[in-house]
Amino acid sequence: MTLNDVVEQAAAGERLTRDEALTLYTGASPHVLGRLADAVRARKHPDRIVTYIIDRNVNYTNVCVARCSFCAFYRRVGSDEGYVLSFDEIFRKIEETMAVGGGQLLLQGGHNPDVPLQWYEDLFRGVKERYPAFRLHALSPPEVIHISRLSQRPVAEVIARLVDAGLDSIPGGGAEILVDRVRKLLHCYGKASADEWLDVMRQAHRAGLRTTATMMYGTVETLEERLEHLFRLRDLQDETGGFTAFITWSYQPEHTELAGFEATGVEYLRTLAIARVVLDNFDNVQASWVTQGGKVGQLSLAFGANDMGSVMIEENVVRAAGASYCMDEVEIVRNIEDAGFVPRRRNMHYEILGEPYFRTHAVPRMTTLAIAKEDGEAGVPAELLEYPARSRVGKMRVKKAT
Ligand code: SF4
Repeated sequence: MTLNDVVEQAAAGERLTRDEALTLYTGASPHVLGRLADAVRARKHPDRIVTYIIDRNVNYTNVCVARCSFCAFYRRVGSDEGYVLSFDEIFRKIEETMAVGGGQLLLQGGHNPDVPLQWYEDLFRGVKERYPAFRLHALSPPEVIHISRLSQRPVAEVIARLVDAGLDSIPGGGAEILVDRVRKLLHCYGKASADEWLDVMRQAHRAGLRTTATMMYGTVETLEERLEHLFRLRDLQDETGGFTAFITWSYQPEHTELAGFEATGVEYLRTLAIARVVLDNFDNVQASWVTQGGKVGQLSLAFGANDMGSVMIEENVVRAAGASYCMDEVEIVRNIEDAGFVPRRRNMHYEILGEPYFRTHAVPRMTTLAIAKEDGEAGVPAELLEYPARSRVGKMRVKKAT
């Protein structure tokens, strides 16, 4: 099939095969890819509404045994820079989020061997007791697998227990590229193989949760492997229908073991566009302004995105790798409207909540992102010492405290 044939097929809204998608991704100009992706966006969202959510990205611990080579965020067990947030710190962050109109936490963290399943259950119950309407979009598939291994309970049981405690949905983090060759090279195969990542999502969807899906590109993968990732997501979505949205971003190399270069803005837009065309069974595609900056984030709306993601009150992981873009609600809305779209707040299920919050409430402007802990601050809270530790350092800490 020629490039023109594939362009016509995509323009007619027909589903692409792997070979056709590769022809389009490698052969079409950014302009043509953008036009095709924008047509899909217009078919799925003809009202020109672009959504966003007010939430807070909280990383409850930076201690991690996975040690992925592309990650600048983690600290080893026993590091002086390792931290676990206390329940009170997390409650305070929730109250600050609610004060600016937010209704959920995106809660993710490292694979800390001294944070057991019971800690998550107690935290989630504590959140729901204090703030019953507040939502928890928490624990990416590799974290669920880590907790499953740590507690020696099956993934389905871990998900059921977390849902019982208050988990509302699972973020699609830790997918990177869902091809095991790539995962082995990035040292992230051990935390979750491609099949294991997909199976957590399958089980979450079966348990009634909606989740997101992500892709981090620009490390060691080939273009064929990026497409393989997209097709594996499309297949699972055909099976379960449980994904709400897809988000892609480029690898951020600063301070990582892997190092290298960041993909360009055009490569981001081309990748976003091909994803929008291939993932014909996903309703929503997010713009990743957190990694690409506000200007490319705004351009994403012409390359298939219909959602600007989160107002992002706090961010730690991308910041650790050198990118720290900040847009508060005023700025996100300005970017949406200036691109000719209609801004609307949404919840985690992409249900519209209403017009911009700042237009009806007095909200302070936020020009810098909060972080989990101030630089140089670290340590574990006293309450963690009440839970069984798995690491040698953790066991010594618990022993010393009792
Ligand atoms: S990406 Fe996640 S799992 Fe990998 S080292 Fe960083 S914190 Fe740990």
